Amino acid sequence: MQIKEFQKVIEDTYGAKDRKRGIESTWLWFSEEVGELARAINGRSCRENLRHEFADVLAWLTTLASIANVDLQEVANERYGQGCPRCKKVPCKCDEMRTRVAHC
Ligand SMILES: [Zn+2]
Repeated sequence: MQIKEFQKVIEDTYGAKDRKRGIESTWLWFSEEVGELARAINGRSCRENLRHEFADVLAWLTTLASIANVDLQEVANERYGQGCPRCKKVPCKCDEMRTRVAHC
């Protein structure tokens, strides 16, 4: 499944509820899921639960993007489609482990 297809499935499945809840409350749900993923990464759960938490975080992130009218496929391609947004290399040749590019 492509990112665009995944976003459509999440939108079709939860979009009405998500928009009714609003972006602030949905952010809280997303944050809770990130916390659960952090605990799973810290080794406090089995491999299956780790996979489950990654899927949940991705789904909640996707919901937030939909509420904000952001096409994840498009922004992923725009920002990372050519590799590192800063040095344009794959793999990244920047000094830092993960660099931040100045915002507009
Ligand atoms: Zn780079």
